[in-house]
Amino acid sequence: MKRVYNFSSGPAILPLEVLKQIQEELLDFNNSGMSILEISHRSKTYDAVIKETEKDLREIMNIDSNYKILFLQGGASRQFSDIPLNLAKNGIFAYITTGQFSEKAYKEAKKYGKAYEIASSKDKDYSYIPDCSNLDIPYNADYVYICDNNTIYGSKFHTLPNTKGKPLVADVSSCFLSEEIDIENYGLVYAGAQKNAGIAGLTVVIIREDLIQDILPISVATMSHYKIQVDNESLYNTPPTFSIYVFGKVLKWIKSVGGLKEIQKRNVEKAKLLYDYLDKSKLFIPLIRKDSRSMMNVTFKTTSDELDTLFCMEAKKEGLVDLKGHRSVGGIRASIYNAMPIEGVKKLVEFMKKFEDSVDEDKLIK
Ligand code: PMP
Repeated sequence: MKRVYNFSSGPAILPLEVLKQIQEELLDFNNSGMSILEISHRSKTYDAVIKETEKDLREIMNIDSNYKILFLQGGASRQFSDIPLNLAKNGIFAYITTGQFSEKAYKEAKKYGKAYEIASSKDKDYSYIPDCSNLDIPYNADYVYICDNNTIYGSKFHTLPNTKGKPLVADVSSCFLSEEIDIENYGLVYAGAQKNAGIAGLTVVIIREDLIQDILPISVATMSHYKIQVDNESLYNTPPTFSIYVFGKVLKWIKSVGGLKEIQKRNVEKAKLLYDYLDKSKLFIPLIRKDSRSMMNVTFKTTSDELDTLFCMEAKKEGLVDLKGHRSVGGIRASIYNAMPIEGVKKLVEFMKKFEDSVDEDKLIK
């Protein structure tokens, strides 16, 4: 078996231990004589899986019972519309746009009420997180929205916005479970699972109870109504059973390595290794301002598009795959999610040094 170091932004690398466990129990789950892929979502066996997954998530993130946890489908993108629809009271929404996903969410929200862009980093190609300490937030805004970690650009909020008492809604898709957070700072967080939480097909929504409304100002599809999903414990219809099962395995893995404290420590170490090298390199140029850099998605480029392409091609030969930047940004992106071992980052940095040494002097930064 030859496994590579997979730097994909998502679907992304999974812990090998998790893959092995899935493989091991794929044909016969818990002595049921059936695969988890074949088991009814209404069965006792499956009920134990979904309940334990929720319990483990609560334990790992320290989530109290005043927050509800939903296991939904439709991708993180589905939440771009479901959030304004479910959280609307006044129909006034405040958005901070720091990349393509928050732009998409903002655009979607405009369909359902009055959405205001209260801060943005568009002026500098989303290369930083704006100062959000004293924003002009409409007095009657239902919430303030951020994309916490910008997968495409590689930036991250290191200080949460001062929302002046409004609930904070955060898309944490690409930084979910990467560090310790205080859930009490948020009204709602959500994440697509296919980065740090398993595989595609599952979106986890964590919502403070008081934001869940029985009756919504605009009537929505039943499947989109959080209240109905909460009342049915995410089993209104068939949930993404396998994706939830994989998420459960990932949570067990997080617990086994020492929880979010240890995960965060590892992530800080991995990111530091890469950024320290980038900051002194004469070939590679980091794309994000120092105070706004993501621990999960590290974006950079060389002095030319040709060298970027050559770098990714040569890296692939060394078993360092999927390093190409997002198609809209170009350059290089190393996604180093929880499951990426430090050895993968070390190997990447070593290869970068070797590549830099092989480049002609005139192509280096003077
Ligand atoms: N938000 C963020 C931060 C993302 O990185 C992505 C996908 N990469 C999305 C939203 C959209 O997720 P999905 O493809 O699950 O709709």
